[in-house]
Amino acid sequence: MRNSWLGLSLGVLTSILSGCGKKSPEGETLTQDEVPYCANKTEFSRVAGTSGTGLVFDLNPQVSANDPSLLPTSPKIENLAAPVKLERLLGYGILNGEFVDVRNGLCEKSSIGAFSEENNFSYPHSDPRFPEVMSYYYGDQYRKVTQDAGVLLPEDPVIVLANCPIEDNAFFTRDLNDDGTFRNIVCLGGSSIFSSQKATFADDAHVVIHELQHAQSTYSYSPKLGINRLIYDEGGALNEAISDVVGLMNTYERNSSAFDVKRFSVWGLGSLFGTDGDFSRGAHRCPTYDPTYPRCTNYKSDSSGFSTETNTVSFNYPDGMGWPYAGFYSGARAVRNAFVENKSHQQIHQSSIVMTGALYEVFEIFVKSRSDVSTVREFMMKVISRSLQRLPKPNKVISVSPITFPGFFMEVVSAADFYGASSGELTEVKRIGEERGLYDAPQLGPNWANVIGMRFEEISGSAKYDGKLNPGDVGRVWFNIQNVDSLTAGGVLVDFKVPDGSAIEVISEEMNDGFVSDQQAMIRYGKVNGTAIVSALNSTDVSRSLPLKNDYFGTYTTQDGNAAYQDSGIFIKVKKGASPGPQSAQLRLVPANGPEVILPITIEVIAE
Ligand SMILES: [Zn+2]
Repeated sequence: MRNSWLGLSLGVLTSILSGCGKKSPEGETLTQDEVPYCANKTEFSRVAGTSGTGLVFDLNPQVSANDPSLLPTSPKIENLAAPVKLERLLGYGILNGEFVDVRNGLCEKSSIGAFSEENNFSYPHSDPRFPEVMSYYYGDQYRKVTQDAGVLLPEDPVIVLANCPIEDNAFFTRDLNDDGTFRNIVCLGGSSIFSSQKATFADDAHVVIHELQHAQSTYSYSPKLGINRLIYDEGGALNEAISDVVGLMNTYERNSSAFDVKRFSVWGLGSLFGTDGDFSRGAHRCPTYDPTYPRCTNYKSDSSGFSTETNTVSFNYPDGMGWPYAGFYSGARAVRNAFVENKSHQQIHQSSIVMTGALYEVFEIFVKSRSDVSTVREFMMKVISRSLQRLPKPNKVISVSPITFPGFFMEVVSAADFYGASSGELTEVKRIGEERGLYDAPQLGPNWANVIGMRFEEISGSAKYDGKLNPGDVGRVWFNIQNVDSLTAGGVLVDFKVPDGSAIEVISEEMNDGFVSDQQAMIRYGKVNGTAIVSALNSTDVSRSLPLKNDYFGTYTTQDGNAAYQDSGIFIKVKKGASPGPQSAQLRLVPANGPEVILPITIEVIAE
């Protein structure tokens, strides 16, 4: 029997791992003469058995070396990997199996790289086939767990492209084929800083599992609809949190005592960006720059768990949303600097931390009560899959972005019950939810919101780029929502609508992910501070204080203006020849932790 492995052509690439990708896909494709490590053919016969051998890191180079301070420049890395048994191969002498189909981005048309008639895939780290073996081994092991749990999706093998031609990033993409089916691809790129050391994201098993879990999560939610709808929505953050926690659960037994089992990707995200940053994440209740980390003894479920004076941050909902987990912050101004220097406050990989920690603690509840980690892992895979499946789907009437963290946690409680959690275990799961502010949490009062301003940023149109809406202007608009409640509003859906005949029009779907019609669009704001967190972060010590406010602009704005919320604008235009004067519009605001508020607003169209 023969089979064909044709090359891939990657379409539009959406990066979802680090959010720090600096360059768009480029990467040269070499001709096959120059790349002896490529199989140099697309037709393969069955020549080998279904098991083989390969060399892989034990999770990552640091764990393999039992050295938490090992750097990507260490010459030790070349020969650190240890032999493992590769299983479930299909027998073609290539890294193609029941669960994953590995390709090499350095080979022509991203075709097959490693080939061995004996299924012997033992290469040193610098060999371009090494990341293929890491991808196969960890991808296969993780997908087997998911199959054993009875929830594997998609059922077909996922293509994993090692040496994917993208720098400083990794992602999963579900591409629509011409015939209406999907092609599922995980892309594992390389480090730009450590390219001469051949460092790629496949060197970190967490990253391999994280990306494959995106495939699992996406299909669990819906065979067709994506989880991520709007740039800063909690669906996107949830997607990241689940991928991180599944990575941690699947490497639970691999860590030696020198390593923290709750740290996610200390190698890929923590080390491969060098001095550009430590983007690693984790499941502890406070960030690495909190002096009580990792015990997090100052953790509180509400705004009292924050202080710029004691450098306390608590990963609770909603105030803990958007704080970096790690980074090079230390000293008396650590918390202030973490906020000011890291502008990704609403970014989904940063907002994910609260849910990652909560889900990890749920996992720990069952590990404690049931003792056998592998059955608990399968139980958790079932709970997560069912919870995702039951989440609301987008619609243009209620919400184009209906997933919220509290809504998901409610499904976790219900799914744990469905799969037979005892009443004692369920009580503990609910307690975790309450302590993280995700379950049975305090809610905002009925009239929590006002609109106290707006910002308009022109892209094209009139000659005057003056922040005013002139006839013919095209640009983005943000509304400054003020929250008069003491509690912070989490995940605020902003539903903007203008009446028939308005001089203002919403621009197309290509510009607005939350497009409903030319009179309506939705967007999500990460959170809007309540008055309590504002007081908690302000300090009489001016050098440490974060003078934030209880409105959307004042939740994220620091010294440099609007950098932190620039992507959450709605794209609109003012009709050419419109008469100047007030235009009425409406904002419907739907927080994840309180009642919706409908506010009429007026927007002035100014003559040029
Ligand atoms: Zn991701």
